[in-house]
Amino acid sequence: MYGQLLHSLEMFACGEIVVLNEDVHVGGVGLVRLPVPVALLVYRDRVVLIDTGLSPLSVDGGPFSPYAFLDGRVSTVHSAENSLVTQLGRRGFVPRDVTDVIITHNHFEHTGGMALFPQATLHIGAADWATAQSSTGPFAAMYTPLKMAQSSPRIEYERDRDLFDDGVVTVLALPGHTVGTLGVLVTLSGQSVAITGDVAESESAFLAEAAGPNDVDPKQASQSIRRLKEVADKVSATVWISHQTATWNRWRTGSSPS
Ligand SMILES: [Zn+2]
Repeated sequence: MYGQLLHSLEMFACGEIVVLNEDVHVGGVGLVRLPVPVALLVYRDRVVLIDTGLSPLSVDGGPFSPYAFLDGRVSTVHSAENSLVTQLGRRGFVPRDVTDVIITHNHFEHTGGMALFPQATLHIGAADWATAQSSTGPFAAMYTPLKMAQSSPRIEYERDRDLFDDGVVTVLALPGHTVGTLGVLVTLSGQSVAITGDVAESESAFLAEAAGPNDVDPKQASQSIRRLKEVADKVSATVWISHQTATWNRWRTGSSPS
């Protein structure tokens, strides 16, 4: 597989989640269906995933629900066809080819596939890692994939870092949605893409620099959106808002929301 590596960045949806609108948009009503995105960057001899989507155990309802702790506030739409393993396979990769996993933050729909990549170096916000390891109580199950990753090689982030020291991948420290949220700026062939994770959960929140209803520190979240905008503007980056269906429809490859 390594003989033909191309430099590329792709994004694909590994299923969808159906959530209460009020959980993602201040004042939202009803339910909203959102893509669960994963980005795949192939660069030199590195195969980098940005987030890992939903747990493989949730495919087609799974043998049991790994998300029972969400108690009905979230349901998943996750099939074998749009699973991360299937979508990697379509691109000629198996999970053990993945060299690096950047987790934008420690929420369930970004960490679900972690267990597929024990050999990969985990890149994660230091505070998000610490939160996941120390969590107890009903929501502790959300952090199970990260607890299982303790023996993986790991780089923790407290500030921005140029991952390969060549300006191609910059991991950005953008706390507020969670205590250790990261964004990623990728520049390939003179084009830049800013991957937001959940720094902003919708395009309207991004434009308004507005914190989301579940942000742990709303003030910090607004500051992080502002900083992401500055970083993106400086290099005329396209901003990819992970759960924004309209943004997703412009960028999608592979299986996608209906
Ligand atoms: Zn999310």
